[in-house]
Amino acid sequence: MKALVLSEYNRLDIVNMPVPQPAEDELLIRIQACGICGSDVHGYDGSTGRRIPPIVMGHEAAGVVESVGGAVEGFRAGDRVTFDSTVSCGKCFYCLRGEINLCDHREVIGVSTPAFRRMGAFAEYVTVPARIAYHLPDNMSFPHAALIEAVSVAVHAVSLTPIALEDTAVVVGAGMIGLLTLQAARQAGAGRVVVLDVDDTRLELARSLGATQTFNSRNDDVIAQIMEQTEGRGADVALECVGATVPVKLAVDSVRKGGAVTLVGNVAPTIELGLQSVVTRQIRLQGSCASSGEYPACISLMSRGAIRVEPLLSALAPLEDGASWFHRLHEREPGLLKVVLQP
Ligand SMILES: [Zn+2]
Ligand SMILES: [Zn+2]
Repeated sequence: MKALVLSEYNRLDIVNMPVPQPAEDELLIRIQACGICGSDVHGYDGSTGRRIPPIVMGHEAAGVVESVGGAVEGFRAGDRVTFDSTVSCGKCFYCLRGEINLCDHREVIGVSTPAFRRMGAFAEYVTVPARIAYHLPDNMSFPHAALIEAVSVAVHAVSLTPIALEDTAVVVGAGMIGLLTLQAARQAGAGRVVVLDVDDTRLELARSLGATQTFNSRNDDVIAQIMEQTEGRGADVALECVGATVPVKLAVDSVRKGGAVTLVGNVAPTIELGLQSVVTRQIRLQGSCASSGEYPACISLMSRGAIRVEPLLSALAPLEDGASWFHRLHEREPGLLKVVLQP
């Protein structure tokens, strides 16, 4: 089979490899679409240390079951499926509590660290445990299904955020995750969702996806604007989807006393935090990592159009063009959100 291999940092090659064989509990999936994740782009240049070459990356994928291992139930050849990016062990303290994203033995498809190596889906075929696979409805295309993982990050973050009906929510950052989080917050009952970013094009996209107001934090005094909209109190909740000092400060400053801030963005390893503002105003800070069992909800939300991914899909390209798309994403070409490769 053809696979896009990270042969060394900053170098991707199309390589011929043997088709993997499914283990007893695994599915062999013929990949139809696989999205390039921000974490793949950061892994590509070696900066995260989580894509040690040689590795086939890619964990945001969908395809058709080619064959199944002997112990698999509920799937058969020809089924249209997607799968979770996380492989949890199913046995540890956290898995038994249902917190599979916190699994002690968590592995990720298409990731290699000193502890594990799992071949990913930038290839014609991949094998994954059947317990992390999900059936796709007929009305969902494979490229859209490849965005479920990103949707699940947004839905998980919103599920950890105490949003009451008609609350005001602030979403900081209108990138891929921010634009999905805004839609999930609306579905969770937020009456108003205010989106902040530094890019007017993205803010326009946010409005088309249901943001009730947007502010460019480079030009506007966004905190003053939010106070004005909320009788001087601040928003009920904020969801931070960037992950650095300035946007986290915006999130904290935007909420009212007793408000909650969910931290989804994860770029800077450490940030400066206004401790007194958090303590004396009794703000709740909540981290959110990946997702934990939200796939069926995401499939349903997308299938009935409650969360739209079409406007976030920047390009569909053949796997052979993967190297040049990685390069363009790595160079931060403006206007690019999700690029999906098709083997
Ligand atoms: Zn991802
Ligand atoms: Zn576990």
